[in-house]
Amino acid sequence: MCGSLCDDVVVLLGDGGRIIEVENACAVGASKFLSAQSEHRLKTPLMKKNGKFVEVSLEKAVKETAKLLADAERPLLYGWSNTECDAQRVGLELAEAVGGIIDSTTTICHGPSVLAVQEVGCSTCTLGEVKNRADVVVYWGSNPIHAHPRHMSRYTTFPRGFFREKGEKERTVIVVDVRRTDTAKLADYFIQVKPGYDYEVIAAMRAILKGYYINASEVGGVPTSKIKEVVEVMKNAGFGALFFGMGLTMTRGKHRNIDNAISLIADLNSFSKWILMPMRGHYNVSGTGETFSWVTGYPFAIDFKRGFPYYNPGETTSIDLLIRGEVDAALIVASDPVSHFPAAAVRHLAKIPVATIEPHQTPTVEISKIVIPPAIAGIETEGTAYRMDHVPIRLRKVVDPPEGCLPDKEILEMILDEVRKIKK
Ligand code: SF4
Repeated sequence: MCGSLCDDVVVLLGDGGRIIEVENACAVGASKFLSAQSEHRLKTPLMKKNGKFVEVSLEKAVKETAKLLADAERPLLYGWSNTECDAQRVGLELAEAVGGIIDSTTTICHGPSVLAVQEVGCSTCTLGEVKNRADVVVYWGSNPIHAHPRHMSRYTTFPRGFFREKGEKERTVIVVDVRRTDTAKLADYFIQVKPGYDYEVIAAMRAILKGYYINASEVGGVPTSKIKEVVEVMKNAGFGALFFGMGLTMTRGKHRNIDNAISLIADLNSFSKWILMPMRGHYNVSGTGETFSWVTGYPFAIDFKRGFPYYNPGETTSIDLLIRGEVDAALIVASDPVSHFPAAAVRHLAKIPVATIEPHQTPTVEISKIVIPPAIAGIETEGTAYRMDHVPIRLRKVVDPPEGCLPDKEILEMILDEVRKIKK
């Protein structure tokens, strides 16, 4: 599931509690439920012996994981976005107990958005308000048709809303991207920006809003006349919503792009009502920010080495730590960094002992020394997750997990108990 966290999914069960059909979900969401019972699903804890995985008991895997973390000088506890908030909370206790660094997938997606929001604040709302009020919707550096397949149909473009009874007919969609994506094909306006020039286009929009003359025929590959036309539409919105993705957060400018986009929204609020919202990817990545912030005051990249939470992105972020070769052991929970991290970081991860709590066969599982398959949150165990607009949604248990597979939270509590015994 993605950060849209659709709460209308219906799961039909057949004989023996088999999931036979998933209604209302998109293909991405349905596959999450259907793959839970696939024959490739991991069901038994594994440990590597002479380079090959052998099955071990849960107790042995837990003890070895605790030893691996307790013996390390600089353990990294990474992932957390595909599990529920209580597991994240126990993960924080574990990070504190081993004096490690805890970081979430935010570090490689919307970390720059978090930094920008901390610097300049943010005007936002719930997705329900967007559905009921928005008449102008902007997707910037984001392609929801593929990454968040029901975002447009549930919240922004196609649904009828309380103040938008005619649905799509009352809404204008603007897409800003470096190529004509499938989302762009559905838009009323498409702005094709030169790769790496988003900051300049946002700056041009702000200048036009403030009444300055732009002495150039194009900015960032976009004709100035087109920017003016779109700014006019945005200025005259009844209620506007700008959604941005990694095309803005992870391209040249990074958190300065978001800083500038937030300032654009602040400027637009002089003319009309505007909000902006990051398009969060993993279904509970927003929850990591919430849980980590409640407990430590910081949203990601938190280092407990000093005995108290310390946060300094660039110094305490996973990829920087791995590339500098500082980490000497890792626990990966509900994530697959080997598929997403840069090669230099993955090379270091492959050199150090890694324990992974993961139900599926992933590239991270392949490089791990210990693998513990858990019950899958939202399918085999309940919990709480936060939608991309920070609305908490209760996850339900739909089917029983494979025998012996415990929720992430319980596995982490067992590891924490063992760590405490070692550290006593
Ligand atoms: S849009 Fe996202 S949350 Fe909704 S069903 Fe698809 S993957 Fe799941």
